[in-house]
Parts: sequence; C-alpha cells; structure tokens
Amino acid sequence: MTEKKSTKSLEVPKTMKAWVLDGPEELRLTEKPVPQPGPAEALVRIDAVSICGTDVEIITKGLPAWIRGGLPFNKNFTPGHEYMGTIVKLGEGVDEYKIGDRVAVEIHAGCGRCERCRQGMYTSCLNYGLNYEGHNKGHRANGFTTDGGFAQYAVNHINTLAHVPDEMSDEEATLIVTAGTAMYGLDVLGGLVAGESLVVTGPGPIGLMAVAVGKALGAGPVILTGTRDSRLNLGLKLGADHVININKENPVEVVKRITGGRGTNYVMECSGAPNALNEAMDMTQRGGRICLAAFPSEPALVDLAKIVRNNIYLYGIRGEGKSATHRAAALMTQKKFDAKLMHTHTFPLEELPTAFKYFRGRIEDAIKVVVKVS
Ligand SMILES: [Zn+2]
Ligand SMILES: [Zn+2]
Repeated sequence: MTEKKSTKSLEVPKTMKAWVLDGPEELRLTEKPVPQPGPAEALVRIDAVSICGTDVEIITKGLPAWIRGGLPFNKNFTPGHEYMGTIVKLGEGVDEYKIGDRVAVEIHAGCGRCERCRQGMYTSCLNYGLNYEGHNKGHRANGFTTDGGFAQYAVNHINTLAHVPDEMSDEEATLIVTAGTAMYGLDVLGGLVAGESLVVTGPGPIGLMAVAVGKALGAGPVILTGTRDSRLNLGLKLGADHVININKENPVEVVKRITGGRGTNYVMECSGAPNALNEAMDMTQRGGRICLAAFPSEPALVDLAKIVRNNIYLYGIRGEGKSATHRAAALMTQKKFDAKLMHTHTFPLEELPTAFKYFRGRIEDAIKVVVKVS
C-alpha cells in the first residue's frame, strides 16, 4: 500500500483551536494547549469530525457527558466524538502505529481495570467519568468524559484506533464509528445473522448503518421502517430488501406478510419512538431478539407479558463495544457498502455552529454533517 501524502503538516504546535462548551447551547472557539500522549496513547491531528445526535444531547442537556463528577458545562470541555485523523506523536512504548498513519477512533477507551472493561464491554465501564483528582480510575471516552474532537488535536488510547485505508476519504472515515455502533448491536443480538431476517426501525445514521452492516453480514431479508421516503430510499441503496413508510402502511402487517406470517429473527430499534418496543415485539417472531439502540425521551408503556409469553430476548446497547469498530472498519475497507451516501454536508471547524444548525434542522435533508479541520 502506498503512503497517502498529506499536504498538512505533521509538526505539532504548542496550542490549538478548540471549541469548548460554556453553558447549555453555548459553544465557544478558543485556544488550548495541545494535549500530550502518555504511555499506550497517541496524539491524533483531527482531520474531520462528524456531528452525532448525542452531541446535541450533550450541548443542550449535558448528559451523557460527565466531567469531574458533574455536568460538562463551564469546564473548558471540548465535545465531539466521531472523528478521524492522522497520528502525529506517539506516547512512550507505542509501536502499533506510526507517525503519519490515518486512523478512525472509537469513543470509549473505558478504564481498562474494571470487570466490564476486562470483558470488552468498555462502553459500559463501571468507572464511567472517574478520571479526576481523588477519583482517578483513568476512564476515557473522548467527547464524553475527556476532551473530544471539535478541535485540532486529541489524545487517544491505542485501543481506540483503527487504520483507515488510503482510498477512503476523511469524510467517509468519520462514519466508521457509526458503523461500529450498528455492528455492536448485531454482535449483541448474536452476531451470526447470515440468512436470518432483520427489521431496523428508524432510518437515522445508526439505523441506516444497521441496514448496511446487517446486509453485509448476510442477513436477509433486511427491512427498514421510517417516516421519510428520502431516508428510506437511502436505506434501499445501503442494502435494505424492503422499506416501509409507517405513515402509509402498518409496519407490523407488512413485516408479517414479508415473513410468511412469522415475523423476523431480529429487530434493531433505532427510532426511540414511544411505541417502538411494542411494535418491535409484534414484528419479531417467538424466541426472537430485539436490540434497543435509541434513547426514547420519555418512559414508555410496554406490554411486558408479550415478552414472557413469546420468549423474546431484549438487549440494550451503548456505543461500540467489543472492538466492533474494527470489524466495521474492515467491512468499509472491503467496500461492502457505500457509507459515503450518508454524508451530506461539510463545513470548516470555524463554522461548527452552522454545521449543528444544519444537522439539527435537517436542512437540505442533512444526515451526516462533517466538519473538516485544517
Ligand atoms: Zn455518536
Ligand atoms: Zn472500566
């Protein structure tokens, strides 16, 4: 493989541009010292960072970011977690990567010392947010409990890095971690989805990636439900065998019809709609499995007896555990699906607030809005 020649400098300045979160909704561009990598860490020059729905949660409500034992406001905290970049400095003893390597990142390094981290479930680390004086378990989740990617540089543990091939654009590489979350959901459902049927409810970025990854792993039929035809059409391009616009058709009836009355093996719930779990139970077959990958904003009323009567398995996931991001990166490197289709807009780092406006307002059908860092 030939080295990609970067036109940007690999030299590391002393200070960098970084956005910080003041009060809710108050992002401010400032200068910060460039962080230094420790043992088992690398300094990443951020080349591109994508906006995620969770970033909106963080800048408006604070959670799930957790900084020094509390909400992340007015703590000089830099959010942003779906980024990629170039290694520009190695911490002591690091030989797994070299300077100039292009990398995508996982969000969660975890603490590395708790039971969950040791099981590969570092996205549900038991020491979440414990990384400050008097409570230092070394937890890292960039953009959540440590500084993230709306900046020129970030430090990453080498476990959170995945190589990006030369042919892949910066914009596409920011989507590796999104695909990693979809991959983790499918892992949790059992992983061996080839020849098994899958419904994905909700065509947001994770739902669309669940379609793409599920199809790449051989699931079939893959059925996508949603309310907007433009997103559903994109789902078809990413590998859905059927799409259902729930404003026009009853999704349970259509899924039953497609599956000969049985329902599917799996449902991946990515909509967060109040009735989503009840519908998922009606769409899955007896003994089927449901993975919840979206946050409903309110408590939901659920017919629990249906879970018991039908021996349905229910899972919740957070993020991209068990190195799922590496497997997702492999699928994208092998061009098993065209993630680029989800990237709709690009803005420079200085225009982050405009990028958020496009993402939040879905202006011009925005899906993945990428910020390029120069
Ligand atoms: Zn995200
Ligand atoms: Zn841990």
